[in-house]
Amino acid sequence: MSPIRALGIAAVMAAFATSASAQQYPNRNISMVVPFAAGGPTDTVARVLGQAMGKPLGQTVIVENRPSAGGILGPEQVKNAKPDGYTILIHHIGMATTPTLYRQLRYNPLTDFEYIGLVNEVPMTIVAKPQMQAKNLQEFLEYAKKNKDKVNYANAGVGAASHLCGMLFMSAIQTDFQTIPYKGTGPAMNDLIGGQVDFMCDQTTSTTSHIKAGKVKAYGVTSAKRVASLPDLPTLQEQGLKGADVAIWHGLYAPKGTPKPVIDKLVSSLQEAMKDATVNQRFTELGAVSFPADKQTPAALQAHLKAEIDKWAPLIKKAGQYAD
Ligand code: ASP
Repeated sequence: MSPIRALGIAAVMAAFATSASAQQYPNRNISMVVPFAAGGPTDTVARVLGQAMGKPLGQTVIVENRPSAGGILGPEQVKNAKPDGYTILIHHIGMATTPTLYRQLRYNPLTDFEYIGLVNEVPMTIVAKPQMQAKNLQEFLEYAKKNKDKVNYANAGVGAASHLCGMLFMSAIQTDFQTIPYKGTGPAMNDLIGGQVDFMCDQTTSTTSHIKAGKVKAYGVTSAKRVASLPDLPTLQEQGLKGADVAIWHGLYAPKGTPKPVIDKLVSSLQEAMKDATVNQRFTELGAVSFPADKQTPAALQAHLKAEIDKWAPLIKKAGQYAD
């Protein structure tokens, strides 16, 4: 047989094997990579969603934490994973802010991934250690501005939602604080509750239960309207603070080259999971708003990501905050 013919047969057989394994997909557990520490808000969304997606997929979706400051190692891991649908990524707005924040990023959100769909949007809250005396935002701002050299601010590193919210908050009140970076706001929250750091901005998916239990002080929510699960907590806007509104959106991604039939199964399992009553109840309790079904699609995630990159790039450049 000529070498060219042999190569042709090998290519056809490889394509056949790929499509056959795509048809059988999934026949083992799937890893959902979370780019932040366990116990934080992204991890919480992943666990609720992963469990529900496992039902239509007929396999367990295992949450795998790949924590790093700014959440930049998780996407890199998924970019380099085998594109077979057994490794997927859940990430938030950081997919749209890191391309501007980092001079050197080892992945390109717009070219290195297949898109699965948008999940939900979550507002953020300004929360402080329980020992903080201030009873409301006004008192907190007076205290923080007077003590700006000793007040510190926890976040999950440059590129995290908590970093973005902190950047907007500090710029809105025209005061800078020392930043303490963590590999996720799960561990940052432990230190906040323990009084080791003074304040932070974190998603309601993590802060709601601590606010309700009185474990942290809460001074405002970053959405335009109050959150149903925290009806007594005023928005920052209604307290006169403009320019710190931000909603954190989550999306699901797979490595570039994941076969279309596999992506289709992941999309339909995302859509099934988002109809699940337990998922809806849990997201509502945590202040998260699910994207409608027509946004739980690859095209909607791709369009949203591109629009968010374009939206945040000038704001980040103006704030002049970069990492290498
Ligand atoms: N809330 C974190 C952030 O600031 C991430 C996390 O730990 O889930 O992006």
